[in-house]
Amino acid sequence: MIGEKVLVERPDLQKLLDALRQKGYTTVGPTVRDHAIIYDQITSVEELPIGWTDEQDGGTYRLKRRTDQALFGYVVGPHSWKKFLHPPVLSLWKAKKNGKNFEIVSNNGEPPQYAFIGVRSCELHAILIQDRVFINGKFVDPHYQARRERAFIVAVNCVQAGGTCFCVSMKTGPKATVGFDLALTEILDGQRHYFVVEVGTEKGAEILQQVPTKKAQPRDLQIAAERVQQAAQQMGRQMDTTDIKNLLYRNLEHPRWDEVATRCLNCTNCTMVCPTCFCTTVEDVTDLTGSEAERVRKWDSCFTMDFSYVHGGSVRASPKSRYRQWMTHKLASWIDQFGTSGCVGCGRCITWCPVAIDITEEVRAIRESEHSKEKGE
Ligand code: SF4
Ligand code: SF4
Repeated sequence: MIGEKVLVERPDLQKLLDALRQKGYTTVGPTVRDHAIIYDQITSVEELPIGWTDEQDGGTYRLKRRTDQALFGYVVGPHSWKKFLHPPVLSLWKAKKNGKNFEIVSNNGEPPQYAFIGVRSCELHAILIQDRVFINGKFVDPHYQARRERAFIVAVNCVQAGGTCFCVSMKTGPKATVGFDLALTEILDGQRHYFVVEVGTEKGAEILQQVPTKKAQPRDLQIAAERVQQAAQQMGRQMDTTDIKNLLYRNLEHPRWDEVATRCLNCTNCTMVCPTCFCTTVEDVTDLTGSEAERVRKWDSCFTMDFSYVHGGSVRASPKSRYRQWMTHKLASWIDQFGTSGCVGCGRCITWCPVAIDITEEVRAIRESEHSKEKGE
């Protein structure tokens, strides 16, 4: 039943993955690779980052051993679920020579059916934002739509926050409230290790029937609520979003944009790791014999010169204009365009910026300069 909460013991969690795989889902979840927690195909709970946590700050990410065997004792890493729903490289179609004519063939076959394991609340909100961009507007992206409609989402409530997290400021976490089929809260309590599981959809309830569950006692629910509350109080960053759209629109010529431009390397990392950034470019490639051509869509970034190239030049030729475009789009013009902020407070752009540029700090600097002006300082 939707909204129902039950318990699943740690040894039984594998049965959830098994039930999803039996239903035809490809199970994808967090796992350790190259000293980071990334998202990849997993078939066993043992492939989760058991006993690992992460330390994050501006331009800093390190994995560390925990003192317990938690399965979800870390926050978000460099990957986001957009790489599965909106792939970095996607062949749109191929044209093959057929005598004197060309025949257009689609390249993609049956869309994958993913079950995402361990989706954080900020990430659920990021997926809902990408839904607005790709499905709910005037133009629908059929590739995203097909993957999205087939996806099953197992959320995980955060019981600890990272050094660059600010979901509380953006009202996107740490508790999963929308957009999941099942939501887990992991509890290690003395010798006990179990999950409080909340049912979000009928689809979630149906899968849960394949997993041994117990009745949740009031104490279990209280512990789960307290752990999530604890995460809410640990946010590494904060952002005052009061009238943020007009704050940024009022300050398009603020000297802070020049200052940040002296540090920004235009490396595009912030856009690649951001779970809501969606811009792409299209490349047409032909084979050497001229018998086959392909149109490929690839992630692009507003930090590249080519991104705004129009007939002989780039519209945003300076690093200053590119950083300003990115930040004002995220926090201001996104609201006009899609009716929501483009930022969910996941902190990835802060952690993975090689020079530790911090979106929360940039907003604070502009806001404080206005306050100083008002006070005549
Ligand atoms: S702008 Fe930064 S903090 Fe906001 S959603 Fe994107 S990566 Fe996360
Ligand atoms: S803000 Fe940081 S991550 Fe983004 S383009 Fe500039 S240097 Fe790279």
